[in-house]
Amino acid sequence: MEPVVIAGGGIAGMAMALTCHEIGVPCRVLESVRTMAPLGVGINLQPNAVRELDDLGLTDQLPAIGLEATEWALVGRNGNDIWSEPRGLLAGYNWPQWAVHRGELQMLLYRAVLDCLGPDAVLTGHQVVGYENTSEGIRVNVARRDGSTTKIDGSLLIGADGLHSATRRQLHPNEGPPIWGGAVLWRGTALGQPIRSSSAFTLVGNLEQRFVHYPISAADAETGLQVQNLIAELTFDPSEGWSDSDWSRQANLDDFLPEFESWNFDWLDIPAMMRKAGTIYEYPMVDRDPAATWVDGRMGLIGDAAHVMYPVGSNGASQAIVDARVMGAKLIEHGVGPDALHAFEDQLLKPMNALVLRNRGAGPVSILGLVEERCGGVFGDINDVIPHDEIQTFMAKYKVAAGFAIDELNAAPQTIPTGSRVA
Ligand SMILES: Cc1cc2nc3c(=O)[nH]c(=O)nc-3n(C[C@H](O)[C@H](O)[C@H](O)COP(=O)(O)OP(=O)(O)OC[C@H]3O[C@@H](n4cnc5c(N)ncnc54)[C@H](O)[C@@H]3O)c2cc1C
Repeated sequence: MEPVVIAGGGIAGMAMALTCHEIGVPCRVLESVRTMAPLGVGINLQPNAVRELDDLGLTDQLPAIGLEATEWALVGRNGNDIWSEPRGLLAGYNWPQWAVHRGELQMLLYRAVLDCLGPDAVLTGHQVVGYENTSEGIRVNVARRDGSTTKIDGSLLIGADGLHSATRRQLHPNEGPPIWGGAVLWRGTALGQPIRSSSAFTLVGNLEQRFVHYPISAADAETGLQVQNLIAELTFDPSEGWSDSDWSRQANLDDFLPEFESWNFDWLDIPAMMRKAGTIYEYPMVDRDPAATWVDGRMGLIGDAAHVMYPVGSNGASQAIVDARVMGAKLIEHGVGPDALHAFEDQLLKPMNALVLRNRGAGPVSILGLVEERCGGVFGDINDVIPHDEIQTFMAKYKVAAGFAIDELNAAPQTIPTGSRVA
């Protein structure tokens, strides 16, 4: 069998390679960067993704790259709590939620791919520039970093090449660049004392201006300090056209910190924290309109290439892992061919397209809009503004939409039953 060719060695691509190995399908990853490096800052792995990493035998490595997340909290601009809920095992899931360093997760998956599939499984410096469906399979056109080009034949091409996907561009040539809705994130990490329950995702502010804080390491036994992920977010007029959506673009504190100078509560001094961050990365929050299809003959999209969304629900990386596992299940069910790609699309295109739009509408964070609407952000006890049950119902609906509703997930059969292989 020709290998399944995977475009992109990010979270989705590496999870796809590990899944192919598990189910006995040869594969090869083509990654455009010359050298793999742990890029990015914090991300969350929801229990639906942790379950899949558990099935891949990787969860014992998570403590080295992150911290179990046990709380999710929304706080008003005045520093008062709007909502707090338990997460992971504490919430009743059978699997924890993890807050981890994105780049370290990618490297963990990369090392696992090399261990399982050997050193030739990932070709770095190989940028996929296009593909041709042939009578027997698919031919992938590749530009190497050294300036040469090559063609690699495969049984399928999985487009896991992220936000600026070349495979998606060939499938939807008129789509244009990602769409910027007006928000810009400044992201970094800093060492800090634990706040709240010491492993909480804490979001403070309103829809136009907010700050996110969550730790991605346990507290050091000697210093008591944790590595904390920090995000400051401001909203601008979208017509300003801030479209340079590169996750690794560096920025300065002066670009945003003056807007946050007064955001100092007794339990959280935001300006002081941001000043401690080493490198600051700027990222205009972009997404794409839902795609009509993810499949073109023997090419199928997964991860951000299929459904890049605003990172407001902490589910981009989780869904990338789940996608790889669902694709694996479809390969087992339908064989290594276009039918598997269509079955994947039949299961996920509709709900993921709906989630893209839900996150564009601020996802779970849109509760902050309700607070503004009902009291202009001025409140003492939030129950006087929004009843507890109203928020509870809202949050439960989001978890259903994002595929991590507690009871459904706990009751769901394994995506890939242990020992299953492609016939
Ligand atoms: C450098 C970087 C830093 C990031 N930092 C953060 C962060 O701090 N917080 C956050 O929430 N999300 C971050 N993300 C996005 C996050 O990883 C994704 O939203 C999520 O994990 C979905 O994973 P994915 O594999 O679909 O996409 P990605 O993780 O973006 O992976 C795509 C991979 O494909 C490679 N690639 C791109 N084009 C081609 C091509 N034509 N041929 C071959 N390879 C190609 C890329 O180099 C990358 O390795 C980052 C992404 C990148 C690439």
